[in-house]
Amino acid sequence: MAATVIDGTQVAADVVETVKRETAKLVKDTGVVPGIAVVIVGEDPASQVYVRSKGKRAEECGFKSVTHRLDASTAEADLLALIAELNADPSIHGILVQLPLPKQIDEGKVIQEIAPEKDVDGFHFINVGKLGTGELETAYVPCTPAGSMVLIRRTLGKSDLSGLNAVVVGRSNIVGKPMANLLLAANATVTIAHSRTRDLPALARTADILVAAVGRPEMIKADWIKPGACVIDVGINRIDAPELGEGKTRLVGDVAYGECAAVAGSITPVPRGVGPMTIAMLMANTLTGACRAAGVEPPAY
Ligand code: NDP
Repeated sequence: MAATVIDGTQVAADVVETVKRETAKLVKDTGVVPGIAVVIVGEDPASQVYVRSKGKRAEECGFKSVTHRLDASTAEADLLALIAELNADPSIHGILVQLPLPKQIDEGKVIQEIAPEKDVDGFHFINVGKLGTGELETAYVPCTPAGSMVLIRRTLGKSDLSGLNAVVVGRSNIVGKPMANLLLAANATVTIAHSRTRDLPALARTADILVAAVGRPEMIKADWIKPGACVIDVGINRIDAPELGEGKTRLVGDVAYGECAAVAGSITPVPRGVGPMTIAMLMANTLTGACRAAGVEPPAY
């Protein structure tokens, strides 16, 4: 039987609807307007696109949204001074510094200067530590794994993953590791695989939930999938697509979608799977920050 296609665009729209509704309620009840500041340094075209869509989505949600565009030659000290200003600004609940940063700036240092209670990307050591120790009530969870987790919960129709085996392929700090911690916090039995893992296909076949966050186009094949598994494909890879015309390209995930969809129980497509969830969860995290600042329980997604 063909897998259920997990519609990330639709789930993301639903999350954004909740954010809009709860923002209106927060403003009405407390006068607190969620505020997000996005900082971009330089002219990287992909980053410009991301930043524009984040700003647009924030405005749609009813947030105060400010974008700071800094020159590519900006000194690290000047960026740190801006972050200090935003940390001290009570109208800003979320600060996002768009990565990558130019060479003269130490990314790690910049991330650690963001106040943990405004770190809506969830990259600060305090938030990483809270997730690792299961302090989810006060942590910020990185947006892509947080969004993947919403898809898993809604697809399986439960928050408690007791008894299920989860395999996460990829161990990056922004996707693989936080994803594994979230699955563990939800009581799944979790294995993290990476480039040094032996017999990855056999390990993947043990997974009731398989998350791919590798960055290798269509690496995961049908015979890696346990029949009926929930497959979450985080990968976004642009490949040549001569079949669409000369010089054309298309996006694919880390999972060979067509063949795996014939075996899996449910699967995210690429695009329109995990991708749209990332910005939606950024909005959710910002609202969470505003709710915490106002002493109000944030919504669940
Ligand atoms: P990284 O490059 O930081 O990490 C990739 C991971 O995959 C590493 O842990 C690496 O192992 C592992 N890996 C590489 N090759 C293999 C292999 N042959 N077998 C098993 N494991 C392997 O990538 P990210 O985590 O940042 O991103 C992963 C993918 O997700 C990318 O395609 C990226 O574009 C996409 N992405 C999508 C987002 C979204 O919004 N949907 C957001 C963020 C990322 P090792 O550690 O041993 O090197």
